[in-house]
Amino acid sequence: MSKLYLRNQLCIPVDGYNRAMIYDLGRKDYHFISKAHYALLNTDKLINFDQIADQSERSELIDFLLNLEIIFEVASPQEEENFPPITRSVDYPDQLTHAVIHADISPAFIDFIGDSHLQNLSILAPQINEDVFKLIDSLKHLEIDGIYLYIENFEAENLEKHYTELGRRFTLFSVNFFGAEAANTHLRDNIYYNFFTEKLEEYRQKTTLDKLFVNHDLFFEAYSKHAYYHGKVYIDQSGQIKNGLNNTQSFGDINAITAREFHQIINSEAFLALGNINKDDMLVCKDCEFRYMCTDPRVPEKGDQHWYHPTECQYNPYLSVWQHDDNYAGLKASGVTVSVTGCTIDKALLDRKFNEIWGE
Ligand code: SF4
Repeated sequence: MSKLYLRNQLCIPVDGYNRAMIYDLGRKDYHFISKAHYALLNTDKLINFDQIADQSERSELIDFLLNLEIIFEVASPQEEENFPPITRSVDYPDQLTHAVIHADISPAFIDFIGDSHLQNLSILAPQINEDVFKLIDSLKHLEIDGIYLYIENFEAENLEKHYTELGRRFTLFSVNFFGAEAANTHLRDNIYYNFFTEKLEEYRQKTTLDKLFVNHDLFFEAYSKHAYYHGKVYIDQSGQIKNGLNNTQSFGDINAITAREFHQIINSEAFLALGNINKDDMLVCKDCEFRYMCTDPRVPEKGDQHWYHPTECQYNPYLSVWQHDDNYAGLKASGVTVSVTGCTIDKALLDRKFNEIWGE
């Protein structure tokens, strides 16, 4: 008799256009699988491996899944009841959890967020100086899980001096330098230091591999909300209240309103609209296996039936390639057209491009 297996409920299959993935939320990792294996594993019940006729393929898959603890063996069909499915649709209160500000932010903003519990506060600054340290110190009394610094101009000569001062700020989670000579990441005094060769201006508009995160909180948020916009506010350099770094629409001026008005703005239907978009309603992204780990910062537009992006992401889910991969082709070049009216695919061209890249 065949052995009986159930899937670990924190290992979640997610399908894409060409391939699928297992998101391992416990280990914050992911594994690619075929769409056929996705169909098999996308169940909360006993997995029917007998659907795979080829015995060596079946054994190989079972070994792979057991090794990664994606599946586990049970003794009888009745045990299925002991492992009920987890609920993926979580109700999120619309509250502020992420803020992006500049180092010269008005002190009024710090008063306005006094009662919020922020998971993440990002501070943008041209360079590290006394003002940055003063701002971080002025946030000490607030409930913030992690502060992220984004420094536009990397100054190699001052790095050692900065390490000492930054290391004393325990709320710092990461410091990100742009314009560095070489890309690099390291951990020092419990702070992640990331060095990027590109400019911050470029980086902030792109969806790159380092903006993909597999974790429990992000997965469940992204399952029903937009993981970049939900719970976020950006205050630009002139004090304008916006949804995100790349948005042009302003909802008010932080310098000309009261705390009460600020909270009315960020809880208004218009402000919350982008955060409430589900990736399954977004053209192209709905076909992408990365969609529940992706914090895409592009500004979506409302189409006739779905949301869409007038600009392309760096990943093409129809060819399963990133821009940095050899033989990359964008959506247009692979026969995929996206517009306000929807998404059309020139299947013959897409198949040709796919075969050129993957050699089938
Ligand atoms: S296609 Fe969409 S979901 Fe996929 S990586 Fe790009 S932005 Fe993220």
